[in-house]
Amino acid sequence: MTRVLLAEDDEAISAPLERALKREGYDVEVAGDGATALASALRGVDLVVLDLGLPEIDGLEVCRKLRAAGSAVPVLILTARVDEVDTVVGLDAGADDYVTKPFRLAELLARTRALLRRGPIERTEGTEVLVIDPEARRAYFHGEELHLTGKEFAVLELLYRERGKVVPRDQLMREVWDAVWYGSTKTLDMHISVLRRKLGDDAAQPRHITTVRGIGFRLDLDPD
Ligand code: CA
Repeated sequence: MTRVLLAEDDEAISAPLERALKREGYDVEVAGDGATALASALRGVDLVVLDLGLPEIDGLEVCRKLRAAGSAVPVLILTARVDEVDTVVGLDAGADDYVTKPFRLAELLARTRALLRRGPIERTEGTEVLVIDPEARRAYFHGEELHLTGKEFAVLELLYRERGKVVPRDQLMREVWDAVWYGSTKTLDMHISVLRRKLGDDAAQPRHITTVRGIGFRLDLDPD
């Protein structure tokens, strides 16, 4: 069944639109804010109908993050902000088409059908290996969400912020555990080894998280 994600916070718009899309035979999921929309879209849908004015993460940012995470799902923008349409549909945010509010239902359904027929377009440009979303505390690796505990996320976020550089152990202990470093960092090592596993690193020869002996760790996103 064709899965459509409808990201729209205004129920006066989403309720009738949901009904119309269901009548077309689609499996419809509604998200009322940007963070939920992004998470649902990354779990895999066939089309995203995306309102620009969404709470938490706005639609433009949702679209950018989707593309940055490597998702090729077709995105149809709903917007009342006609002046922003160029930015949105352009390479910038990576949306595929748009409909301006107020829209005619028949028009929107026609665009929907056209995008579904066309299907996803793989974009290699602008794709990032690792996407960190600090507000939603989520991380995506090659387009798949990583399931991380709070501390694992914090370690990865810090390594990511300093990627390509060595982050000293005492800095990690201080910023993540709020602890003064007395020499033992067993907890930190445990978290690093879990993160390595989640990033697909070989324990003996990690590609992404390198141990810099006597200092700390370095995150490399282009190990080749
Ligand atoms: Ca809105």
